[in-house]
Amino acid sequence: MPAVERASLRVRIGRQAAVLAALWLAGSQALAGGPLLVRSNGVPFAWGTGTINYRTDNGPLSPTVPEATAQARVIAMFDVWQGVPTSYISFSRVGFINSTGAFTDGDVSTLAEYDAVDADCAAGNQSPVVYDADGSIVAGLGMDNTSVIGFASPCTSNATNYLTGLIVMNGRFQDGLPSPGDIPEPAFDAAIIHEIGHFSGLDHSQINVNCMNPCGTDDLAGVPTMFPFLVSSTQASLSVDDMAWISRLHPRTSGGPTFAGTYGTLSGVVFFSDGQSHAQFVNVIARPVGIPQNRTSPVSVISGYRFRAIHGNPITGDTPSQFGSTAPGDIGLFEIPVPAGSYTIEVESVHPDFTDGSSIGPYQIAMPGTAPPPSVPVSVAAGATSSGNNVTLIGTPPRFDQFEGP
Ligand SMILES: [Zn+2]
Repeated sequence: MPAVERASLRVRIGRQAAVLAALWLAGSQALAGGPLLVRSNGVPFAWGTGTINYRTDNGPLSPTVPEATAQARVIAMFDVWQGVPTSYISFSRVGFINSTGAFTDGDVSTLAEYDAVDADCAAGNQSPVVYDADGSIVAGLGMDNTSVIGFASPCTSNATNYLTGLIVMNGRFQDGLPSPGDIPEPAFDAAIIHEIGHFSGLDHSQINVNCMNPCGTDDLAGVPTMFPFLVSSTQASLSVDDMAWISRLHPRTSGGPTFAGTYGTLSGVVFFSDGQSHAQFVNVIARPVGIPQNRTSPVSVISGYRFRAIHGNPITGDTPSQFGSTAPGDIGLFEIPVPAGSYTIEVESVHPDFTDGSSIGPYQIAMPGTAPPPSVPVSVAAGATSSGNNVTLIGTPPRFDQFEGP
């Protein structure tokens, strides 16, 4: 699989002093809300059913966090995702990072060593978790090691499944030194749990975006681990959205609560005001009926999450994308896996700060027009799909080019 831009995570100092040091969780491009990468047939890439074997750095995370401590923390972070009962995804730490090329001393501490390990991941040989104890690797890759906490992505796939992946953790945020300053351990770990979500094939999700400013407890509970910003260390615990999507990509079919026995699907199309032109890149949120679960337990996706970001035009630029389908019926399509129940469906624009590395979906364009009110409640049973829950935006510009027919 060709290289994709690595998902990374950054701190925005002072952005949200009222909450925590605000962290910018950055994702990769050519993605989709829900899944990170989608095949040309519209089916998301995912990991296979076997246990995902990863290897950890045999050096310290930082001068104050020794290897053994870091290893225990990393295992616990993978366990957060492995603990989702309706997903088969599972991980196993199988040892320290294997020697390869210029990397022979167990501790990935130089850019040359990182490059060797990255190349071995790209060759499909191992899935490394690298501790960049002094930030020199992050800096060597051209990123600001006082703002990037870590990054991650799958490295290789076959036609359907990821085969290897890589995570880098920047120890400068856990070294006790005044610059750039540590973030609390739960927040650092929440950030890396977010990165493991990318490693696992998840894109960002926008739910309760009002929590970009200080928000209430119920709203905070609904903010996904995969929200583009870390607004609270509570994101170290997975939200319903995180659990729904990891399960949708990796559904348990036996040996425990199954995906099909737990989740249904709400689907529909977001339309321009003409009611027939599909609108892509609109955030769609299904909120369960009732208080407080309407705030604590929503699930979301981006319209057109299966569809390719068509490039080579003045809006989306020239960067080619090979990911996503080209089926016209997918352009405005949304599909949301939800626990069986009753939901209202609402739409909104992706937040204007969620661009580039913190993007959601295949591309970012502000939602045209305005959102209609939330839908009437829609019920869906486990294993069932409620389709046709279409949403027509209000007051959009005409969609059809004046020089072509409808
Ligand atoms: Zn991210």
